[in-house]
Amino acid sequence: MKMSPNIMRHTFRPLAMVLAITFSLNACAQSPATPDGSSAAQATDNSRPKNVIFLMGDGMGYAQVKAYRIFADDPAKAGMDPLPFDGILVGAVATDPLSPHCDSDLDRLGCEYSPYEVTDSASSATAYATGRDTVNGKISEGHDGERFSTVLELAAQQGMGTGVVSTSQVTHATPAAFVSHASSRRNYPEIADQFFDSQANGKPVAQVILGGGTRDFRREDRDVAAELVDKAGYTLVEDRAAMMSADSDRLLGLFAPIGLPRHWDRPDTVPTLAEMTRKAIDVLSRDEDGFFLMVEGSQVDWAAHGNDIAGVVSEMEGFTQAIEVALDFAREKGDTLVVITADHETGGLSLGRDHVYAWLPGPLREVNVTPAVMAEQFLAGEKPLSDVVAGSVDFELTEEERQSLDQAERESSAVFAAINELIDLRTNTGWTTGGHTGMDVPLYATGPGSEDLAGVMQNEALGRFLIDAVQR
Ligand SMILES: [Zn+2]
Repeated sequence: MKMSPNIMRHTFRPLAMVLAITFSLNACAQSPATPDGSSAAQATDNSRPKNVIFLMGDGMGYAQVKAYRIFADDPAKAGMDPLPFDGILVGAVATDPLSPHCDSDLDRLGCEYSPYEVTDSASSATAYATGRDTVNGKISEGHDGERFSTVLELAAQQGMGTGVVSTSQVTHATPAAFVSHASSRRNYPEIADQFFDSQANGKPVAQVILGGGTRDFRREDRDVAAELVDKAGYTLVEDRAAMMSADSDRLLGLFAPIGLPRHWDRPDTVPTLAEMTRKAIDVLSRDEDGFFLMVEGSQVDWAAHGNDIAGVVSEMEGFTQAIEVALDFAREKGDTLVVITADHETGGLSLGRDHVYAWLPGPLREVNVTPAVMAEQFLAGEKPLSDVVAGSVDFELTEEERQSLDQAERESSAVFAAINELIDLRTNTGWTTGGHTGMDVPLYATGPGSEDLAGVMQNEALGRFLIDAVQR
């Protein structure tokens, strides 16, 4: 169900910006954080966090953030309402992966450093999870198959609470990179197996696992969910009510076969990202050793791949509400580091197009379900597409718009594109690609240690910072 765009507002004290030489733009060394105290976080030991919450908006560039800020603004009030995380912007992340040609001797230099490649989610998540650079497609492995240990594994080995929460299947690239290792992000069954097989202190490394992915966990050849329940004491929950009432230190929540429905399209049986985040924090904060939690707003990226601005805003809304949960907890406790960023930008999203100097959020506030659902409803029924769309939005379609919708070929990608084009033209939204772009992404942080983040960092340097933050 779509929520009103009103969101709670928060203000933050300005953060001291300390130049952290350790994390300069050229910090592209391949070694993980060392325990010898070389990091800025350890240099300020009294500001060491007890808990670390890392939130990632997959595909969330500056344009995705700004689109949501304008969408969420109350037009009846003067001035622009800030987003709950606007006040903690500390810098930017350059997410360059290794060159895809780095196995070849001829391209060995490209393997060392490749600012000209555009990352995928696997490579960028690997950089954040392990502090190491890799090629696209790898899950916490090097281009040559070297296994990189992850911040979540390190936290688990030290007895901390650990969790991953996502709106994708939890076997998808970002959560996978914190929990597992694979030569290809597409090896979903192999990744699911590691949610049981990868253990620290006799227990699976991820204590709380919430998202989609029943298809990968409950297979004919192996039921990883049953093993987690029967052999490792997890409680399995498969709907929102069961998750809310679960009272277990080890929790597996699988709410969809693959990805969860979009935030605006979600039935009441599926928890929001904010509710999953709240639950994960409730469980993990019982641990006196502190915890590491990764939360992903996974489908900002999926919507942007489809050049679907309504979907992007829907997913930014769900992700922002999850960020508020994390920030509320951090503010209350004072001992929790919250870091928010993205793995890359998706879509080359542009606010304004065709020489028109305006981006108009109004029509998005009148869209009741995302275009993917409208397309599904059209393909499953008898009504013309123009009637299906007219029934899903609160504005009147023009005759021209009706005609262009009804000319779309009766095929899902053509139908989806026709609806998106209508919304793009009404809002002046532009796109340059259906893939990722190499733009730097925003970096937000607050809490103990956050004063060491400033300027433009490489993503693997931020990964080393996270590893340092959980060193005990
Ligand atoms: Zn993507």
